[in-house]
Order: sequence, then structure tokens, then C-alpha cells
Amino acid sequence: MVLSITSLTQLPVRSWRFSTIKALSCTLALLLTTACAGYASNPLKNTEICNGIYGNWNNTTLEQTRDMPLTMLSHPSVSSIAMAHNLGTRVLTYCTFYQAPPNAVYQNALASEHPDWVCVQPNGTFGISVFAHTNESSWVTMCPNSFGYRSYVLKLVKFLMDQGADGLFIDNAHPDIVCEGPRFGMHQHIYPGQGNIYAYRKLLEEVQALVKSYGQDKAIVVNPGAPQDSWTGVCDGQMLESYICSWDWNNRWTEDKILDYQKQWGVSSETDAPIIALSYLGFTRNAIRDDAFYTYAWAKLSGFIWADWFTGKTAASDLYKVRTGQPTGPMQTLNGYYLREFTGGLVVTTSQSKGATFRLDAIDHPTVTDVYTGKLLRSNRSGYYEITLKSGQGRVYTYPSELKVASNHRTKVNRSLAPHRSILAFY
Ligand SMILES: [Zn+2]
Repeated sequence: MVLSITSLTQLPVRSWRFSTIKALSCTLALLLTTACAGYASNPLKNTEICNGIYGNWNNTTLEQTRDMPLTMLSHPSVSSIAMAHNLGTRVLTYCTFYQAPPNAVYQNALASEHPDWVCVQPNGTFGISVFAHTNESSWVTMCPNSFGYRSYVLKLVKFLMDQGADGLFIDNAHPDIVCEGPRFGMHQHIYPGQGNIYAYRKLLEEVQALVKSYGQDKAIVVNPGAPQDSWTGVCDGQMLESYICSWDWNNRWTEDKILDYQKQWGVSSETDAPIIALSYLGFTRNAIRDDAFYTYAWAKLSGFIWADWFTGKTAASDLYKVRTGQPTGPMQTLNGYYLREFTGGLVVTTSQSKGATFRLDAIDHPTVTDVYTGKLLRSNRSGYYEITLKSGQGRVYTYPSELKVASNHRTKVNRSLAPHRSILAFY
């Protein structure tokens, strides 16, 4: 078919509910000793933060992406991607291979002209999007096992990459598992007898090869809602959407749930393919700034890349600029708080059930900025910064005199930290 060239339809922010994750038995103590050689080539390596904008964006909203290492955008065009590049951000273009509106041009195609692309349910009707309760009420699901749909997807990917994108953000990586298209004579399958998890992975393999043909620095991030083993190896990173805070609920996740995700995905996030933890801010009873620092801190402690889709607005804007450098070791679990040191700073959260007081050696770190207050810490007569936090707080402290480079590139400092010497805890 001849693809018509149109802008992508405006896309709403969405979330996906997660099932309980069974924790792996491995510990974060292995975190820095199990790095595999393959990670060195991951284009998301050393990306400390990323973000995204759905829907229409203009010069004003795009300004938010200035110096953001990575931004996901939904309206691709040559000029707009070039504009984003000039602001210092790499652009991953939004797309989905899961669903489409039946009667509107979307991603350069009109699904109603291609019934052979659509998933067929066991009762013979077209597959219905899981977002049917939203404004995408009539959207149908697409079959990755369809010859015609596979061909279309690869043409779409080429079109998007030809616009100068740095890669793709592939949303809704949760295909309908079963398609009965062949049984109802609607279409034949590329992989007869195989389900759509298999077919979708094979499609991602082809998409990955095509994207990487534009350069090994091009990246693919997929969003299954919560990371899936099924997509390991066919993307550069996966999204964990609605991390701790979401528009879909008004309380933070429990500490146990946060730790479960850390145990499940923390190691692979730092050694293989990063997890992008997207928190939607402004929907709890907490101050947005408090939720911003809490979710940011937990992402850093867990080895995830934090994002908030700019929902934190001015309350989180200073976090967008923070660069801590690389971790010097795994997270430490202490009495009442969790702590992790980085080459250029320190990240802490307190337990949801109790606060904590701890000390930072002022000799090791003569200049320490509390990013939350924007002020320098002041040491006491004993040569320590004494820090007291209430329960459920997240903080990041940076060592500006030691952090030589604030960028997404690897940070070099004059000396490594000695955690057990520089940190003294008491309660
Ligand atoms: Zn099918």
C-alpha cells in the first residue's frame, strides 16, 4: 500500500496496572560485579534521567527538554526533532503496534482499509483495546502475526527513523496473546501455531534490526506497563509506568512493592537494559515536590532511570538538572532509611514507617548541596553534617565541588567515596 504521510494522532497519557512481582533471590550486592559486556553498547548507558511529552507540543513546552538526556515525543517531524536536538536532547518517537482507531488515519494508515491486520478474538469478533474505557473506546487491537501488519510496521519504522529520530518509544507492548484470524479466514499467520507473544517478539527483532541500521546509538524503549522478560534482548530499555505515584490512584506504593520491583529489575537495569520508571505526580495528598523527590530517590536507589513526563512542573524542575554520576556501590539498608552513594552525590529515602538521622563527613565532602532546599549543608563543630528526615521522605545531596561534569556522560571525580567512613548513622 502507499502510506499517506500525516502527523501522529494526539496520544493520551495512560497507565497499566501491575501484578505482584515475586522477588528474585539475587541481591543488589551483586549489582556492580555482574556487568555484562553487552551493556557497554547500550545507547541508554549512563542516562540519568529522561522525560516525555504526549500530544501537541510547541516551543514553550519543548523548552522543558533543554539538556534532558532523552525525551519521548509523539509528533515526529524533521524540523521539530531538529529543534529538540538543538536543545540538547535526544528524541525517541512515540509509536504503538498494539492498537489503532478503526476509522481514522493513525500512524500513517487507516485500519478500516486493512481488516487483515486486526486481531480476531475466539468468538470471531475484532480484538478490543484494553483502553476501551478511555477516549480510545472503539480502538481495535492489531495482530503482529499478520503478514500485512508486519509489512506496515516496518514501513512506519523507516518513516519515523528517516525523520531523524534517535530511536523509538514503543508504547503498549502487551499484544493480545491469542488471535484466531486464520480460523475465521480473516488472515494467515507468519508463524502458524505460535501465539502473539512469540510473534510480537519476532516483530520487535525486525524493528530492532531496522532501527540499529541507522546507527548503533539509536535506541528502542518499549512500554509493557511493567517490564517483561518476554522483551529482554529486543529493546534497549523497558518502562515501568505509574511508578509509585500515578494519576490512577491517590496513594504511594507500599515500601514492600517498591522493594519488590527493585529486587526484580534493579540488577538487570544497571547491567543489561535500563528500566525507565515513570511517576505521575500531583495525584496524592502529598506536596508534588515531596512525591517528586521520593519517587526520584527510589528510582536512583533501585538503578532505574526516573521520569515524570513533566507532571512535577516547577516543583520538580531542579531534579531535571541534577546529575549524581555513577553509583559507587549498591543501596545500603539502614535503620529507618535507605542510602546509596554516587560519584557526585548521595541519595536517601526514609522508611514509610519511621524517620532517621544520619551524619555525613564534612571533611570528605566540603561542599554539599541539599537539592530539596537548594541550600548548602552546614557542618557542626564535630565536622559532620547532621541530617534528620521524617518518614517517607526522599532527598538527593550533591557534591558540586567534586562533580566536574553535569551531563549524561560518565562523571569523573577526584576520589571515590568510602561509605562506611563517610557515613555514620544513629537514630
Ligand atoms: Zn492474527
